[in-house]
Amino acid sequence: MARRNEDRCNFCGRGRSEVSLLISGLNGFICEDCAQQAHEIIAQMRKQADEQLEKEDINLDELPRPKEIKAFLDNYVIGQDEAKRNLSVAVYNHYKRLMQPDSKDDVEIEKSNIIMVGRTGTGKTLLAKTIARMLHVPFAIVDATVLTEAGYVGEDIESILTRLLLNCDYDVKKAERGIVFIDEIDKIARKGDNPSITRDVSGEGVQQGLLKLLEGSVVGVPPQGGRKHPEQKLIQVDTKNILFICGGAFDGIEQKIGARLNTRSVGFATDESRHDIDRNNLLQYITPADLKKFGLIPEIIGRLPILTYLEPLDADALKRILTEPKNAIIKQYKKLFAMDGISMTIDPEVYQLIVDKAIEFKLGARGLRSIAECIMMDAMYTMPSEKAKELHITLEYAQRELQKANLERMRNE
Ligand code: ADP
Repeated sequence: MARRNEDRCNFCGRGRSEVSLLISGLNGFICEDCAQQAHEIIAQMRKQADEQLEKEDINLDELPRPKEIKAFLDNYVIGQDEAKRNLSVAVYNHYKRLMQPDSKDDVEIEKSNIIMVGRTGTGKTLLAKTIARMLHVPFAIVDATVLTEAGYVGEDIESILTRLLLNCDYDVKKAERGIVFIDEIDKIARKGDNPSITRDVSGEGVQQGLLKLLEGSVVGVPPQGGRKHPEQKLIQVDTKNILFICGGAFDGIEQKIGARLNTRSVGFATDESRHDIDRNNLLQYITPADLKKFGLIPEIIGRLPILTYLEPLDADALKRILTEPKNAIIKQYKKLFAMDGISMTIDPEVYQLIVDKAIEFKLGARGLRSIAECIMMDAMYTMPSEKAKELHITLEYAQRELQKANLERMRNE
């Protein structure tokens, strides 16, 4: 029983003699038990608010629809319609998956990691980068060639996530919904279709390690990347909701596809249907079985359910790349000159020249920039200190500048 006139807890009413600790405030008291309980209530409410925020973070109404995602990609990436459509749907579904209500019907939307196959310089990285830019989520590009199995020289698989963490100031929650682009995934294919008995440091072991990340698990990530140091405190990251986009050139896979298409048609297909096959672009017929033949393990292929391809870029596509994207190379030069008050104009034949040279020297889309740079270099060097405020680039001018630059050294065989 509380004694009369003694101080009481304003929450439970018990007197000082009935509680172990009574804390006094300006106008009242709280006992240890009530303070403890208040603390728990606050923690519980905070947790609920955080969970709510997480769900509200992405709002289905605000999420761009696949067609809008594709339209956004169109601003930056030329062609590659098939890849764009696949990516747009995969990304849309990925974010719907993050918002799926706690499952009462046992239907759980699974992750839709993506694999893009296409020659180097056809826009794989650009597509992944552009998607991340649109969605405002953390994004990291990693190169699969630097990865090795734990215990070998090279980077641990988990270091893939270090880059992602770095790109969002180590905000683990943000990183856990990011996008990771793993480039050159073909370089960790095991050599040949047969599982080898000997250890394959850079191939199958790495694929096994990668599998853990792709499936979704909590992994310890070294904050500084590189190799794990025993003294480094690992950051726990759950990869369940990270979208992985893999890309690779898979050199030689076209022959495998071609061979498959040929053998399949023997016996039951007519010659006509065989002729329907577009031999210039065999990648469009790629199937998961071709990836397996190339040396990806079936478990990895299974975790990359969306398989899409990029078209080789023809002269027309290269020309469009020069001028059409929002940050097209030519637009960038115009802007650079404009900052010095110089207005730059360029004859259309010059575009053709740049494209022809990129094809002749096998430089692809990446080469467009270096060739344009050779043409502009002189003017960019001299004009800022001169009075002239107009630069008109004619075909002759461009040819002359290219001759001076000795393009031959850039040839890519
Ligand atoms: P990869 O397929 O090897 O990942 P990238 O996406 O890195 O190729 O392309 C290299 C560069 O070439 C890009 O930064 C971009 O400037 C240009 N490029 C390549 N493909 C396209 C494309 N389809 N549309 C616009 N630019 C492209």
